[in-house]
Order: sequence, then structure tokens, then C-alpha cells
Amino acid sequence: MKLTLAQFKRDFLAEIKTLYATDLSDTSSLGQFIALGHLVRRYNGSHWQDTAERYRKHDQKQVYYFSIEFLPGRLLSSNLLNLGLLDTVRQGLSELGLDFKTISAAEPDPGLGNGGLGRLAACYMDSMASLGIAGNGNGIRYRYGLFKQVFMDGYQVELPDDWLRNGNVWEVRRENKACLVRFGGNVWMAPQPDGSLKAMYEHTDDVLAVPYDIGMIGYQNDVTNTLRLWSAELPPSADNSYYSQAQRDRIDDITKVLYPDDSNSEGQALRLRQEYFFSSAGVQSILRHFGLRHQGMKELAKKVAIHINDTHPTLVIPEMMRILLDDHHCSWEVAWELTTKVMSYTNHTIMQEALETWPIDMFKGLLPRIYQIVVEIDRRYRAAKTPVFGEDLVNRTAPLGNGQVRMAFLAVIGSHSVNGVAPLHTELLKADVLRDLYQVYPERFNNKTNGITMRRWVQLANEPLSTLIDSKIGPTWRQQPNQLKTLAAYQNDAKFLKQLTAVKTENKVALAAYIKSELGIDVRTDAIFDVQIKRLHAYKRQLLHVFEIIREYLAIKDHPETVEPARVHVFGAKAAPSYHYAKSIIKLINALADLVNHDPKVGDRLKVAFIPNYGVSLGELIIPAADVSEQISTASKEASGTSNMKLMANGAVSLATLDGANIDIIEAAGEGNEYSFGLTAKAVYGYYERGDYHAADFYNADPELKRILETLVDGTIPGISTEGREIYDSLLRYNDEYFVLADYESYVQQQQQISEDFQDQQLWQHKALANIAAAGIFSADLAVARYSEDIWQVPHAKLLN
Ligand SMILES: *Cc1c(COP(=O)(O)O)cnc(C)c1O
Repeated sequence: MKLTLAQFKRDFLAEIKTLYATDLSDTSSLGQFIALGHLVRRYNGSHWQDTAERYRKHDQKQVYYFSIEFLPGRLLSSNLLNLGLLDTVRQGLSELGLDFKTISAAEPDPGLGNGGLGRLAACYMDSMASLGIAGNGNGIRYRYGLFKQVFMDGYQVELPDDWLRNGNVWEVRRENKACLVRFGGNVWMAPQPDGSLKAMYEHTDDVLAVPYDIGMIGYQNDVTNTLRLWSAELPPSADNSYYSQAQRDRIDDITKVLYPDDSNSEGQALRLRQEYFFSSAGVQSILRHFGLRHQGMKELAKKVAIHINDTHPTLVIPEMMRILLDDHHCSWEVAWELTTKVMSYTNHTIMQEALETWPIDMFKGLLPRIYQIVVEIDRRYRAAKTPVFGEDLVNRTAPLGNGQVRMAFLAVIGSHSVNGVAPLHTELLKADVLRDLYQVYPERFNNKTNGITMRRWVQLANEPLSTLIDSKIGPTWRQQPNQLKTLAAYQNDAKFLKQLTAVKTENKVALAAYIKSELGIDVRTDAIFDVQIKRLHAYKRQLLHVFEIIREYLAIKDHPETVEPARVHVFGAKAAPSYHYAKSIIKLINALADLVNHDPKVGDRLKVAFIPNYGVSLGELIIPAADVSEQISTASKEASGTSNMKLMANGAVSLATLDGANIDIIEAAGEGNEYSFGLTAKAVYGYYERGDYHAADFYNADPELKRILETLVDGTIPGISTEGREIYDSLLRYNDEYFVLADYESYVQQQQQISEDFQDQQLWQHKALANIAAAGIFSADLAVARYSEDIWQVPHAKLLN
């Protein structure tokens, strides 16, 4: 949109005056942020309304992306970028004596997700809007996000993430679009005079689902889509005193926290309530919207696509059946055909323990009508498939089995499409976790490799790099990320490679300043910034990275005279509050950091910075400064990964196992431009089949590895007597479930190669540039375009390749 500097400054000052009845000098950064937020919404006002009207007028097919997590990050900068107002606003504020960065940093980071899953959903919302797809998000408005992580004595401590304390300037509460969600009670089918059956309910626990909508602004295309987040409230009653405090709490609890502690059955039941809550409210609202504009439900699958992002929203399947059967009086056959045509499902994990199941007793008590429907889905599935596939396979794959409701199986059976998120992951789904269902429905399985939005992760996070890219190939890559490939022509342009080093250094200076202010550690900006940022999990193997740090530490102590490039090891990672082992690893990293960072013999040659409270905003600071991207999961365990893509696009070189999308990254950038190592997925499966992995063999065969492991228990690293022993035992007594010891040697070899290669900056930046140039294929725009064509069947703005 068009906006002059003078107009912006006038509008901003007027907004301040209206909101606060005072002038600029009397406002805080937070106040200024809120005023800017209001202004951005006003500037965008008609786009949001017009977009909805245009979709209605053309009766455009809508996509509804259901996800229990969304991790959008701060929206001020990205909204301004997408509206084309970023430069004007920055300039205008600066003329008013204000700093845009400071104001932007006052925006709270919505903690509505954990990690990769929620971030993917946010990237896809951004891409749907930018491609002009009628895409809607559907999720939960958690009052408290995940948690705020602080370290005390090196241990993770979880503080409440009160992100809504000052309200959310981007949201619109739409109480007129609220709906009722029912839990518990009794349900029976009463025969009606016309011969039909009517579902009768008694003693139900009713919850009012109130939607809060957030505009998702497309990139300079006048489109604004909607992310709808539901909040649980008391249903209206004549006299509110009717609700006991216990009832109020039970309702409040549903949307209070992202991950209720599910180590007990009460917590598990709450999680199930959350899942049904947003699934039901979402489907009710979709069908109501559809019903207002269509005669009957015939056209439903032509006009609506519902996407199930991981299994948490799977109850959309029986919920849609319920409404079609009970409210619209469809026959089972018609309802089932509509439902399966509407639904599609993305699987995100092959880890057996992460596949969701619910005890039937709990499920039945909480969702009696939905349970009846799942029983009927199960009965019909068994009846149809047993004659063809035999009783054993059907028993293994039916929605109900072993006293459990099996959500992934229900999702596959009730959808027309099932996708994995990287080629290897999809192959493993077919060969392993969902092998039996792949026999039944081979045509449903397909791959959609994850992607990231280059707008947030390059254009906004790394302006120095973006400007440098513009100077070489012009700005079309900002619309068409795949144009980045034309940068490959400069791989041997010494001057350009020098400029790349300069850009990297500029970003390192910014990160170094944060590390200094947050952790009090001085780091050299000519050091290798070796970065591992992701959730803390045994399979992601932060431990392998720890062993490399111990190796470097011992090498410096043993041979202080050797010269190698300095290293800064950067970690960011939250552990789930009840994940004891992951928390022990956090303590280990912090204890090691303490030792290394304060050893005068080590000096500035080696530093460890574990930055607390990793999230989207910290990612935006860390990623542009990274030289090395640690992607070192046990092969076969990481479905795709997306931080690998973000880091690649910012010119970090991957140090990676052949897992998830690492494989595709290595292929795209060229093997010579990455550092791959370790067991393949096939080799890991080989160990499983033969049962002949012996971690102790690796320990006994490698004196260096042995010495490193001993530092966990011999007092070399102070303060970890319990944690060090626990980790030591997990590797040697309990045989190293994630093959850390097996991969140690090849990992360290590549680390040594990195130290050598980094000293030749031209060689190093050549590799970095190969990564940047190849990153375009991982644009979320392309991923979402493939979803639209292959799964949702909706039009999108054409993208150049
Ligand atoms: C991208 C991202 C992730 C995913 O990281 P992986 O290394 O792919 O697991 C997690 N958290 C945040 C905040 C992210 O931005």
C-alpha cells in the first residue's frame, strides 16, 4: 500500500494520543508497539474484510489447517514487510527519535507451540496467504504458552509464559461466532415419528468455544487470511452463580496451558479434552459457514478441505460424521464419503512412543457420542477389509485395539491423503510404522517435504544478506525463492565471497552482543559459530555435540601450542518439563560451559553459550550468525527437520546425519558442500533386526572416546555427579539407544575437517554460497503449492521454478 512518511508520522502520533491520552515521551516501547499494531491493523483493515468477501463471492474452496500448535513468532515486522510498509515505518519512527528494533522487541513471542510442528503450521499460514490460497488456520488460544526457560545452577527451571498479559493487539474476539462443545454425560438415540433417530444428551458438561481471529497477511498481494484460535469459556446461563468453582476451573483448564503435564491420567484426559475442543469447534464453525451458503451438504468436498497436522486434530473425522449424521440426517455412506474426501493427514513422526492412543474407557466417558461413531467406523472397516486382507492385518490396523483408540490409524482410515514430510520419512512410513495400512490404502500415501518461509527466515532475519543478494541478482528471489539458484554463478567470485564473510561477521557481532548481555560471556567473532538449536531430545543427540566440546577442551589442555580456529558452540533447547533425561543433558551442557568458559588455559579459543528460552525470535538472531548447522539425529528418527533449512538459507554448512530432509539438503547443495557422517537409516534398522549393537565395543576400541566418557563420572566436569552417572549408564549399561557411540568417530572426523576448511575462508564461503543458492527449493511457498495441487485441489498463484 501507499503511505508517505509524513502521513505515517501523523497517524502514529494520533494513535498514541487516542490510546493513551498522552504524548510520545510518556510511552514505553510496549505502548509504542501496541499503537503500531493498531495502526498496522487499520492500514490493513479493508484487505481482511475484502479477502473474506472475495472468497464468499467466488464460493472459493477453503482449506482449513488444523493444528494443536502454531508458532508464528512476532508479527509486527512480518506484517509490515508483507504490507510493503517496513521501510517507511522504520524511517518514520527514526525521525520521531524512536528505534524500530526496540519497539519490535517489545512484542511478546506467542508461545503457542513447542517446536518444529507449530513453526511449520505458521510458515504454511504465511505461504497460503502469500499464494492467495483461501487458507484458514484452526487451533487453540492458550492462555499460557509452553514455558519460559531459565537456568538456575545450570538446571532448567520453567516459569509461566504469560504472553497475553498485555492483551494481543493482532486478535479479534468474535463472540457472535461462538459454539458449544459437549463433554461427558449420557447419550442415546431416540426414534422419531418420521422413523429417524435423534441423539439425546443428558448431564453433559458444556463448554463455550469463543474464536479469536488473527489476520494472516500475504506478501504484497492484498490478501489477508484468518488464523482462528479457540478459547474455552463458561456457556451463558441466566445466573452465573450456577457454576461451581470446580466447574469453572474445569472449563478454564481446557485452554489454559499448551502441554498439560500428562504423566498422570488426569493430565491425559485434559489433553484429550483440548483435542476434541478445538476439533469440534472448528468443524462446527466450518459446517455452519458452509450451510449458510449451500443447499444441503452435497457440495461439501468441492468447497472444503480439512488438513490434520499430526494426529492431535484427528477427532475432526468422527466430529464431522456426527454433525452430518445427527444434524443433517445424512446416511452413513454419504457422510463417510464426504468426510474422507474432505480430510487429509500429515504424519510427523515414526517414533512408536509418539503415536497417540487413548484408553477406551477414558475416551468413552469423555466423548460418548464420538465413541459410538468410532465404534461404527471400526466395525465397518473390519467388515470391509477382513475378507481382503485377513483378520490379523485388520486387527493390527483397526481404529480400536488393545483397549485403545489409535489416532494415527483413525486418521489414515478417515482421510483421502496421508503424507510424510521428507522422502526418507515417507518411505519409512510405508515400510515400518504404517506398513500395514499402506497395504490397504497404497494410493493414499505421498510425500510433501517440509518448507520454511524465506520472508521471515531470510528477508527479515538477515537483512545484510538479503541486501547483498539483491546487489547480485536483483530482488525477484523475494517473490520467487527458487531464483536464489542463480547465485551459484558467483561461487568463485572472490570479492563476493569476501562480502559474504563480512555479512556473516556482522551477524556474529549482533549475536555476540546478546551472548555477552545475557550470559556474560565474551566470544570472538572470527571463531567458528557451531550451532545446535532445537528441542532437547535424546534422539537429536545433543550429547554427540557435547562429546566434541569435551574433545576440543582436552585437546587444548593437552596441546596448548596447537593452533586451530576458535570455536563458539551455541545451544538453544527446551526440555519437556517431565523429561528427566533431557534435563540432565541440559545440566551437563551448562556444567561443561562453566568449566570451559572459565578456564584461563582455554582463554578465548573455546566458548560454550547455552542461550536460555529458545524460540522463534531467538532463532532469528542465532541463525544468521551460524557457520555450522548441527543436524545430528540418529538416522531414521528425525522426520524432516526445518531448522536445517533455515540455517542452510542463511549460509550455514550442515554437519549432518543422513536423516530427514538433511538427505535432500545434501543432494541440493552438493555433497562436497556439507559434512555428512554416521550410520544410515538402513544400518540402524540392521542393528535392530540383528540385535547386535554393543555400545561397549566402541568404548573399548577408542581410547579417546573412552577418556571423554570418563569425564562424565571422574570429576573433570564439576557439579554433575548424578547427571554424569545417569548419562554414562544410559550409554554403557543400557546400551546407548540412539547409537551415539557408533557415530562418534565419523562425527569427530568431520568436525576436524571443518576446522581445517574454515581457515580457508574462500573455500568456506564457497560452500556457504552453495547452500544459500540451493535453499530455494525448501521454500514453504513451493511446499504449500504442492499441497494445493496434489491434496487440497485448490488454485494458487503460480510460482516460477
Ligand atoms: C524451526 C524451529 C524448530 C524446529 O527445529 P528442528 O531443528 O527442525 O527440530 C523448533 N523451534 C523453533 C522455535 C523453530 O523456529
